[in-house]
Amino acid sequence: MTVSLNVDLSSEDIARFGDDPARAFAANLQDVQERIAAACLRSGRQPEDVRLLPVTKTVPAHILRFAFAAGISDFGENKLQEARDKQAALADLAIRWSIIGHLQTNKVKYLVRFASEFHALDSFRLAEELNRRLDAQGRDLDVFVQVNTSGEASKYGLHPDDLTAFVERLPEYPRLKPRGLMTLAVFSADTERVRPCFRLLRALRDKTMAVHPGLTQLSMGMSGDYEVAIEEGADVVRVGQAIFGPRPTDDAFYWPGAISPS
Ligand SMILES: *Cc1c(COP(=O)(O)O)cnc(C)c1O
Repeated sequence: MTVSLNVDLSSEDIARFGDDPARAFAANLQDVQERIAAACLRSGRQPEDVRLLPVTKTVPAHILRFAFAAGISDFGENKLQEARDKQAALADLAIRWSIIGHLQTNKVKYLVRFASEFHALDSFRLAEELNRRLDAQGRDLDVFVQVNTSGEASKYGLHPDDLTAFVERLPEYPRLKPRGLMTLAVFSADTERVRPCFRLLRALRDKTMAVHPGLTQLSMGMSGDYEVAIEEGADVVRVGQAIFGPRPTDDAFYWPGAISPS
């Protein structure tokens, strides 16, 4: 598919993304892919076994046309409203949308209309509402169960102790196709504080697979820690800023209580 890039860049766009965003994104993407390959090599894994999910939150829809032109067609978005607006603006492009952030049950009806997967399943209420709305649409949805591995109150996700009981009941929601577990590690530049979060998710996956054999994948790792996540077994890494540049907004909008890495 060829993308019409008949897009006028504002001075604000140029300040954030440069005057050739497609080229900048392609170069960043290649760098990330090389780092993924190197992390795989270090840990005896195959690069094709790790899926890169580019995270497009805060990148405006007209700029995402350049991302698509650079070969990116999987878009991860944290907020449903933002994803929905972009999906409407980019409906002419064959994009696969992943919702990776906390979802309120009143937004489920919008998600089921366009999302291919959801990475933040963390309650029966949400599972129930998703299943009901999906069933009405006659479709299934790939889901990841979010686990709070850092113990921080600000993070969403199930407590590790509650995971088995949750997973045992997932077959009650047949429209949900559980693929694996998802987590956000502690935000820290110190690898040795981040790594235990990933190790915990992996141990939980190994344990819950006995209860639900479909839960095989680990969705973990972002711009600051995806290489560590791959060393610890990540199957999906969700990477935004390393591809699209720093976000101008405060991350507290996406993660309540988020503070700058220490
Ligand atoms: C924003 C976000 C990411 C990616 O973060 P970056 O720092 O941009 O790589 C990953 N996961 C979730 C849930 C996010 O909201």
